[in-house]
Amino acid sequence: MASSANLEDIPSMDLMTELLRRMKCATKPDKRLILVGPPGSGKGTQSPIIKDEYCLCHLATGDMLRAAVAAKTPLGIKAKEAMDKGELVSDDLVVGIIDEAIKKPSCQKGFILDGFPRTVVQAEKLDEMLAKKGTKVDKVLNFAIDDAILEERITGRWIHPSSGRTYHSKFAPPKVPGIDDVTGEPLIQRKDDTAAVLRSRLEAFHRQTEPVIDYYSKKGVVAQLHADQPPNVVTAEVQKVLSS
Ligand code: ADP
Ligand code: AMP
Repeated sequence: MASSANLEDIPSMDLMTELLRRMKCATKPDKRLILVGPPGSGKGTQSPIIKDEYCLCHLATGDMLRAAVAAKTPLGIKAKEAMDKGELVSDDLVVGIIDEAIKKPSCQKGFILDGFPRTVVQAEKLDEMLAKKGTKVDKVLNFAIDDAILEERITGRWIHPSSGRTYHSKFAPPKVPGIDDVTGEPLIQRKDDTAAVLRSRLEAFHRQTEPVIDYYSKKGVVAQLHADQPPNVVTAEVQKVLSS
């Protein structure tokens, strides 16, 4: 926790902004959300907007696994081979990560799970985890989109690794090609964002993740989005679904 000496060093404007944010957050309802959709459907693009609006934490298992791979942790070493091939890593690995992550203080008002659960086993484990805490998933947003659109989205994707900001060479270009608008740091392309690896990622999505949508449909919590529209139109759909 910050000491009072540290607080004194923080500019008044920053303190006021944080205070206003906390006051706004206190009025927001708790939300536990899952974003499901194939790679490139726009989950990572919409997540920061939902996160800010509802004061949730954003947990993207793909981002967490990539960080573990980069840091060469035991988890990263176990996950790397499957990730490089566009296959799913084992259920136990990702369930463990999420179990830990949702305990963070930033998840107090709820969470956005982006890229998890990706199998019915993961969904069942998540539901068990939440039931133990007396909570449940409120809504599953299904980013429905045709496979044919995804290759162009995936091969044009550029990422600022430390913030997770996402760009697209054609649909959302940075001001300077290859450079993050905010920090001026270099952008990267993901190693698995190729047409060839996309094919196995899509195969995994249809075979292993689509059943997750059926699983939550039976619980009556799935909302359909038309993810093939421009980003701001998708955002408007998300806001409509979440305010109802
Ligand atoms: P996901 O997190 O579902 O894998 P992203 O949000 O990273 O997908 O989006 C994939 C790529 O497509 C990114 O480069 C992003 O800028 C771009 N993108 C996201 N949403 C749209 C959209 N609605 N229309 C066009 N391009 C989009
Ligand atoms: P993503 O960033 O969501 O596209 O995920 C990148 C890769 O991480 C996937 O192709 C999988 O290998 C792995 N991954 C991410 N989330 C999961 C998950 N919930 N279950 C299994 N593997 C996952």
